Amino acid sequence: MGKKEKNNEQPQEARLGRLKNGNPPCAIWLLPKCQATAKHSGERCKLPAMKGKKVCYIHGGKSPGAPKGNQNSLKHGRRSRAAIERRQKLQRLIKKARELFDGVK
Ligand SMILES: [Zn+2]
Repeated sequence: MGKKEKNNEQPQEARLGRLKNGNPPCAIWLLPKCQATAKHSGERCKLPAMKGKKVCYIHGGKSPGAPKGNQNSLKHGRRSRAAIERRQKLQRLIKKARELFDGVK
């Protein structure tokens, strides 16, 4: 057998203590997980997210992101914030009109 057997003698809480280098202990299973999803398998990333970020270092946690107002990937603006708000406003108006029309019937 080449595989190492898991040491299940001690519970995980009991193993929490100062690390050999003096750093405080870190329960990695309690950290927030990366929210990225793999394209090929559809599974969620299992790495912990970076501090103050939603994703791990592999999935863009190191990147500060595009600057505000960046238009480099803008193609038609259908999914821009202004267009989405305009559609939602129109949908609310249509819903109100339908309710009003149903009340008249
Ligand atoms: Zn990730």
